[in-house]
Amino acid sequence: MKISRRNFLSGGTGLAAGVFAPGLSGLLGKTDESASRPPTPPNLDPDATILLKGGTILSMDDDVGDFESADILIQGSKIAEIGPDLAHDGTTIDASDMIVMPGFVDTHRHMWQGAIRNILPDGTLGDYMEHITGNARSVFRPQDAYIGDLVSALGAIDAGVTTVLDWSHIGNSPEHTDAAIEGLKASGIRGVYAYGVGTPGERNRFPDDIRRIRNGFFHSEDAMLTLALAAGINAGQWKLARDVGVRITVHVNGTGDLLPLADELGPDVTCIHCANLLDDEWQLLADSGTSVSIAAPIEMQMGHGTPPILKAQSFGIKPSISVDVETQMPGDFFTQMRSFFSLQRLQVQQQGDPERDRPRVPMMSVRDVVELATMQGARDNGLDKVTGSLTPGKKADIILLRKNRINVTPVNNPYGAVVLGMDTGNVDTVFINGVIKKWKGTLVDVDFDRIRSEVVASRDHIVSNAGWPKQSDGSFIPSAGN
Ligand SMILES: [Zn+2]
Repeated sequence: MKISRRNFLSGGTGLAAGVFAPGLSGLLGKTDESASRPPTPPNLDPDATILLKGGTILSMDDDVGDFESADILIQGSKIAEIGPDLAHDGTTIDASDMIVMPGFVDTHRHMWQGAIRNILPDGTLGDYMEHITGNARSVFRPQDAYIGDLVSALGAIDAGVTTVLDWSHIGNSPEHTDAAIEGLKASGIRGVYAYGVGTPGERNRFPDDIRRIRNGFFHSEDAMLTLALAAGINAGQWKLARDVGVRITVHVNGTGDLLPLADELGPDVTCIHCANLLDDEWQLLADSGTSVSIAAPIEMQMGHGTPPILKAQSFGIKPSISVDVETQMPGDFFTQMRSFFSLQRLQVQQQGDPERDRPRVPMMSVRDVVELATMQGARDNGLDKVTGSLTPGKKADIILLRKNRINVTPVNNPYGAVVLGMDTGNVDTVFINGVIKKWKGTLVDVDFDRIRSEVVASRDHIVSNAGWPKQSDGSFIPSAGN
């Protein structure tokens, strides 16, 4: 039954009229059945008006500013107004125990790998290319791409990531590509689908299939998904992307590889990793307005090289943040921000003589890293007019983070609490495009039991066909060195 707003508000819920209170979902000693039932979000029309009341607002928009306590008015899919004591005639959500901020924006994640999360924890980049983009990818079926994308996207939403670029190099066949897009769509996340190469074979249509994909899935300007080409360092592929009118995203791990494409770089290109670039290449990126995405934890763990955070900044480039692979790292942005923040400050301390070396870059602040995790990601995904900050007129991609949890109580610096104290457990409520996707700590409209059984079946298919027997501890791929 669809409950109208008026019915819901007078429905004897025991809450103050019209006020839904995200927050502590159970009190100590409370054991009745209702305490374990997932809370139901307000059932709202798509064009409903919602007031987020009294939250600590980190807008990431200098014109809006931050507030210790203020309101956000959401009308339909968009943010209508931000400020103290806003008037409204819609539903009110009590945000007084919340930090309210834009959702995180990931600029590079291989979401098709959702079924093989944490499978290669000790692996290097070489191990990854042998086992994951080698062995495992070759046995993927379209349904494995679908469920992989879906669980990766739902994990992202659960962690407050509201926009993600899916670097989808599972283009084994058009059916694989279409299934990955369907998985992404089914999650309700805002996304950039970056079509990429898969395992070579007769059915692989990369890169020319991008024309079919654009015409089949990406007509609407207002859609939740936009299209990009997950390209190689290849002038022909970049030309195709520009002919089709989509952004270019490319892994750059080598040294000197970008020099032959000097004239092809530009603001529609995002280069990923960039740990081993020459200074001449950095200068080309800076001069051309090319953006840079860094996956700091993965680069440190797998051996891409030192994440070039300070290097990018010394050339005036703000890097965005990417998870990259969940085979070896979690999909949340708290892990990412802490890695960025700590590593950049170490790199500043290790700078050489400021007179002799490039201009000295200051230590990153906690606010700086939140900006990279939100607004800079939106810029690099070509979505800065749509998301990345709490700005009237932008889409309502908003997260509510619990201040009343033991890991951050009491909050004495909101940015510090978000970056250094919080984790996915603090992500109470998530709006994407004005729709509630997570409510009081639980994903909304997600049949977790069904999805779990599908993803386990997919994992079982992949590991058995990849020839990975289960080890005595329940793992599949032997640890490096074994
Ligand atoms: Zn990658």
